[in-house]
Amino acid sequence: MRFRNQNTYENMVKAGEESAFHSRYERALERFSQSLEVETRYESLIEGKQVSTGKYFQDHSPMDTGLVVGEFSMGGEREASMALDSARRAFQTWSVMDLDKRLTIFRKAAEIMRRDLFEIAAAVTFDNGKNRYEAVGEVDEAIDFISYYAEQMEINHGFQEERPPAYEDERPVSVMRPYGVWAVVCPFNFPIAISAGMLTAAIITGNTAVLKPSTPAPLAVHMLHDIYERAGIPPGVVNVLSGSGSAAGQALVSSDKVDGIAFTGSKEVGYRLLASSIRRHPIPVITELGGKNPAIVTEKADLAKAVAGVASAAFGYSGQKCSACSRAYVHELVYDEFMVALLKHVSRLRVGDPRERATFIGPVIHRKAVEDYLSHSAMARQDGVVHAGGQEVKAGLPPGHYVAPTIVTGLPEEHFLIKNELFLPFLCVQRFTDLKDAVHRANDVDYGLTSGIYSEDEEEVSYFFENMEAGVSYANRARGATTGAMVGSQPFGGWKGSGSTGLGSGTGLYLTQYMRQQSRTVAR
Ligand code: NAD
Repeated sequence: MRFRNQNTYENMVKAGEESAFHSRYERALERFSQSLEVETRYESLIEGKQVSTGKYFQDHSPMDTGLVVGEFSMGGEREASMALDSARRAFQTWSVMDLDKRLTIFRKAAEIMRRDLFEIAAAVTFDNGKNRYEAVGEVDEAIDFISYYAEQMEINHGFQEERPPAYEDERPVSVMRPYGVWAVVCPFNFPIAISAGMLTAAIITGNTAVLKPSTPAPLAVHMLHDIYERAGIPPGVVNVLSGSGSAAGQALVSSDKVDGIAFTGSKEVGYRLLASSIRRHPIPVITELGGKNPAIVTEKADLAKAVAGVASAAFGYSGQKCSACSRAYVHELVYDEFMVALLKHVSRLRVGDPRERATFIGPVIHRKAVEDYLSHSAMARQDGVVHAGGQEVKAGLPPGHYVAPTIVTGLPEEHFLIKNELFLPFLCVQRFTDLKDAVHRANDVDYGLTSGIYSEDEEEVSYFFENMEAGVSYANRARGATTGAMVGSQPFGGWKGSGSTGLGSGTGLYLTQYMRQQSRTVAR
């Protein structure tokens, strides 16, 4: 049964099916586009039923703001409370269901997703503007999470284990039990993969959940609910609370009916949730937060790999990945050569409509992101040198949120743009002369999510691994300096301000956080 990553694009290319990849995705785009001709309303989903508030917000596609993906219900306290009650009722039977029976449902859900992969990917493109490779990759990751967690629960027997007895007449066992009802709060940038990852971890371990989709990209969470429903999940195990972060999200996470919170999103919101984790009892709060991820390029680097890896990590999905590379520290002996090659490489990256095959950089998520981008670009022009980008891209494009990949040098190390997550296609390149100093500067931010180095010298690489304060580190990766963790292979989690638990998703250990340990000893 050994787990294998879905990896659709790579596998189809290897099998000589690249043109089928494109035609299946393009047909799915066409079908999704036709479905928009009928206005669709998405309500909160509680105990398998739609619950309306009569108030809606419209989800406009970032690639063409004239396209309305759907109208989504504006839930609040009442719906949050109803959803939590529904999850509580379902917990009674779900938490004691036989593990094998439970796992059958997850395998079925993964199968449904595999079958509908291109349909879901097309919906992600409309919802958050990902190009086809990123959108399919995201659905792959969702499938991987579900399949991998099912396998981990099975091979670890639900993480139950006999313990060595301290006395001959005792038989101690450690049992992992679910907490109860989890609030699962999702980000816009991986609306299907990260939502599936957090949700699946919560419910596969015997909890029930209320999911709060992100407001700018809410569709995928409704699709996820539908997939689990078709897979046979009992009503109430998965509930969806539609609405804004400040109303629905806040009502959900602050409720006394919540036994645990899984949150992926910004540091600001995550810190607030952590600060509120002590209620009547402390509750577990698993947060996966932002990043300000560095890549170091030493004078012993293979520069071709470094350029490809830095560009892909900085500008893939318009820099809107928590793992995006936003700082590059380049040794002064190779700095000029690196910059020339990087600028050449980036000038060839196509900014455009993500539905088109050649597009590498699609839109950013909303108008506010464009405005932030413009003000950061103005700041960069004033305090440093802007070598590429810094402006909106409009020519020949639908009315969406398109901006150019931006490369800035010469900023003082303490600058706002060097220290803060921007979540935009925005890369700061800095010089260094000494690797120790580069690692020190790379670490000198509040975050510690991902990092990368390019060096053909093993000692330099090992110094980097030993001293980098990051949950995920890569060396010499041309497919992404700081991005591209695969479920099962690279545990994904942040240190410092990037995450609170010290454990990465896509591992068996991650699952144990959704359960609490009970020691059971029978004496003869
Ligand atoms: P966000 O913090 O704005 O929103 C995340 C979720 O929180 C949304 O569903 C939002 O509606 C909800 N929310 C907002 N205010 C809330 C409140 N007061 N109470 C409860 N819920 C509330 O983040 P975003 O813009 O959706 O995502 C981008 C951020 O997520 C970036 O910082 C990125 O680095 C981070 N991220 C981290 C990881 C990771 O694994 N470390 C992965 C993806 C994204």
